[in-house]
Amino acid sequence: MAQHRKKTGTQLTGRIVVPGNPSYNAARMEFNRRFSKFPRLIVFCRRTQDVVNAVKWARERGVRLRARSGRHSYEGFSSVNGGIIIDVSEMNKVKVDRKKMVAQVQTGNPLARVYRKLWNKRVALPAGTAPDVGVGGLTLGGGIGLLSRKYGLTCDNLKQVKMVVASGRCGAKTIVASKKKHSDLLWASRGGGGGNFGIATSYTFRVRPISTVSIYSITWKWRDLEKVFPAWQRWAPSVTNRLTSTIEVAAKQVGTIVSTGQLLGGAEELRRLIQPLLQAGTPGKVMVRTVPFIEATKFFAEGDLNLEPKFKITGAFGFKPLPREGVRIIRDFLANAPNRHSTVWCQSLGGAGSAVSRVSPTATAYPYRKAETIYELSARWRNDGEQQRNIQWVERFRRALRTFVVGDYVNFPDLKIKNWPKAYYDVNFPRLTRVKRKYDPHNVFRFAQSIPVGKKVRKRQ
Ligand SMILES: Cc1cc2nc3c(=O)[nH]c(=O)nc-3n(C[C@H](O)[C@H](O)[C@H](O)COP(=O)(O)OP(=O)(O)OC[C@H]3O[C@@H](n4cnc5c(N)ncnc54)[C@H](O)[C@@H]3O)c2cc1C
Repeated sequence: MAQHRKKTGTQLTGRIVVPGNPSYNAARMEFNRRFSKFPRLIVFCRRTQDVVNAVKWARERGVRLRARSGRHSYEGFSSVNGGIIIDVSEMNKVKVDRKKMVAQVQTGNPLARVYRKLWNKRVALPAGTAPDVGVGGLTLGGGIGLLSRKYGLTCDNLKQVKMVVASGRCGAKTIVASKKKHSDLLWASRGGGGGNFGIATSYTFRVRPISTVSIYSITWKWRDLEKVFPAWQRWAPSVTNRLTSTIEVAAKQVGTIVSTGQLLGGAEELRRLIQPLLQAGTPGKVMVRTVPFIEATKFFAEGDLNLEPKFKITGAFGFKPLPREGVRIIRDFLANAPNRHSTVWCQSLGGAGSAVSRVSPTATAYPYRKAETIYELSARWRNDGEQQRNIQWVERFRRALRTFVVGDYVNFPDLKIKNWPKAYYDVNFPRLTRVKRKYDPHNVFRFAQSIPVGKKVRKRQ
């Protein structure tokens, strides 16, 4: 283990990886291989004190720092050239108190591990689908998934967060934010986005009892797009909040439309509930079955496996169904996609009794409570030569849809969005800057789209 000590300075603790170490290359990489940054070192923390030491070490030396959990940032925000990555992925304890129905989850856990550990006690947390997304970043930005309409966003179930924040001129300290203490920081940690205020090391979540759920999948041919997409958009927010669903339209060269969903209920009820979808177009493959909840998480995880290594993604919220013109734009872009890996994906969030919509837009930092659906426009590729075409396609697509959708989800960040404070935070941005000024007045936690200390948004690396 390398020792990094200035004569009078703080010593780094934890597992330290520097350039030249055999594991440096693996340790520096982001999930999105579009980014290849070269940090000065990576410290894999094992306890909160390692994080405190790392923040102090960086501040004493004026070295830029980044927090990292699951490495799934779309825009490579958890890495930095020449700086220090403070990685919490080796802090992955999960402790469930079934009497109080709460779980303490260290922020280094990937979602699959959280689901598995909670499942052992037959409880669940509403969270995302990809197995290796970090609960660390996901929670701070919101956290959407197949339990959202019934149990809300991941951040809605966050009761407490332990966070290492900057302190004084060169220091760092650990604080615990809850409803009683540092409630403004808890508010900001529920949708304000990762990397802005400090480094979270542990979350306390409310959890829910769970046993079996029912899942469905329906596949159509692309020619049904004009029938199926509007039918899903009308149906998904109007159906019981126990059912959260998705629809994904692939590039024309793949030629499929797939809708999937999860019901807290039985297969017979689910078959009945999906009738409006089955009546749209000519469904091909239809699957409905009841499974243990943990099997359902694996089923939904499959969609996020074996993807192309580089990607550009942007997001948006739908407050009402797309008009015919909007569906035509989707059709045109997917008919002229850069390759077979481009898609449009939507998930239902709001509507009939949804737990997401029941919360006021200002009650947490996540503002888009009344949205019915969330959109993701994505392009994926392998070779650098394809990059520009793919990025331009996503950008043109985003602009074309702009009149029909609103904002963007901070967990789907997009560096092309100029007015990102409005897009990610809407009415909550001014309050977020006040929380930033209080907890990080020296702007220690900064990146290209971090919440500024002042009101002005400056261009930063
Ligand atoms: C394949 C894939 C599938 C996805 N599926 C979903 C989904 O189903 N639902 C959903 O809501 N989102 C989903 N996302 C988006 C995901 O929520 C974000 O990418 C999220 O920020 C990832 O968190 P992370 O810890 O994995 O990433 P990281 O890259 O480690 O971190 C993301 C951001 O949070 C900061 N951060 C990380 N850890 C901490 C910490 N401990 N304290 C403070 N700041 C921290 C980082 O500095 C960075 O700015 C998906 C992303 C991918 C790539």
